[in-house]
Amino acid sequence: MSANESLNLASQLQHVGAQHRLGRGLVGALEQSVTFATSHVDDLPVYARLSNTSNHAEVCALVAALHHAETGLVFSSGMAAIHAVLCSLLKPGDHILVQENCYGSTQGLCQKILSRWGIESSFAPLDEWENALKKNTRVLFFESISNPYCLPQKLSQALAAREKSGALLVCDNTFASPVNCTPLLHGVDVVIESATKYLNGHSDLVCGAVACEQSIAEKIAANAMYIGGFLSTSGCMQLLKGLRTLKVRMNAHNENGRRFAAEASNMHGVAKVYHGSLLGESNSWIKDFSGMMAIRFENYVDVPKLLGNLKLVSDVPSLGGTETTACMPWWTTNRWMTEAEKRALGIDEQLVRFSIGLEDVNDLLADLRCALQVYTLS
Ligand code: PLP
Repeated sequence: MSANESLNLASQLQHVGAQHRLGRGLVGALEQSVTFATSHVDDLPVYARLSNTSNHAEVCALVAALHHAETGLVFSSGMAAIHAVLCSLLKPGDHILVQENCYGSTQGLCQKILSRWGIESSFAPLDEWENALKKNTRVLFFESISNPYCLPQKLSQALAAREKSGALLVCDNTFASPVNCTPLLHGVDVVIESATKYLNGHSDLVCGAVACEQSIAEKIAANAMYIGGFLSTSGCMQLLKGLRTLKVRMNAHNENGRRFAAEASNMHGVAKVYHGSLLGESNSWIKDFSGMMAIRFENYVDVPKLLGNLKLVSDVPSLGGTETTACMPWWTTNRWMTEAEKRALGIDEQLVRFSIGLEDVNDLLADLRCALQVYTLS
């Protein structure tokens, strides 16, 4: 075990990937060069697309440590990470079973791209997974906290399907982050994060991360070097900086998320709030539920107008930043689906996905209360 592996999360976040060597800066230097003189020695960086510069090594070591994995990989987006993983684990003739109501672009990748290469996909809620398995199911894909409903998923159902099929279990952990959930410690084979969200945390970098055992990572990397899509060196440095504050940010997102969900549930005009803290069931594999929640407003609430009236909440489709954001899945994440498909998933014009940031939660609650006041008076 290396010294860093025995550290607690908060200390790992400060020290893994740091070069505490005499004469080196406290913060690593950016490798600007695209290519490197190698003298034909193995394991030296050759070319930045191959993800083997010192900047890649630093951030990948931290991604691996956060997920208790043998290996971490970083990509130029969450979708590049999902694409690289699925292309590496599936071949023509295989089937992937995906959690119903997952992130819209993951569904799009399966239906519009993988299908062209002879990879079949189907979608089902986790409690129907065992019956939805096929002889050729090779990958099971789910989200620890689902998008856009922000509901923690039942791991036991995913593990039962894995057991029955022998397929690899892949988890998108974007809404939880490794502070709240470490899927590899609970029997998941590959964990993916849209690091654009909580991992980087400042809404200023698009990136993705993968953590898994070495043998699987080698397969993914062997494909990714041809597909392209690994993160740039400057992206690696920026992500490393964002990661250093992950735990303090997540603790604050968790606390704000719980308070906002509880108090918004009682507001006039709010029909239902979806946040793990309100479920009251044990879900021990997810420790806390972040700032992500979905709120269904009553039919009499004009939702686009309401969002426009919020002073502290930006109506944008991303999440996981320091500032509070909100979006209507109907118009954003699930826009490309037909109206009927969206309605079948419970996605309608009254549903809003909130990403509660690091503001004082009392100010956020006052902002929502004020925007809803018009409906109390009428
Ligand atoms: N997974 C989830 C759950 C997401 O919400 C997103 C983006 O919103 C992605 C993956 C894709 O990430 P990116 O936008 O970094 O490609």
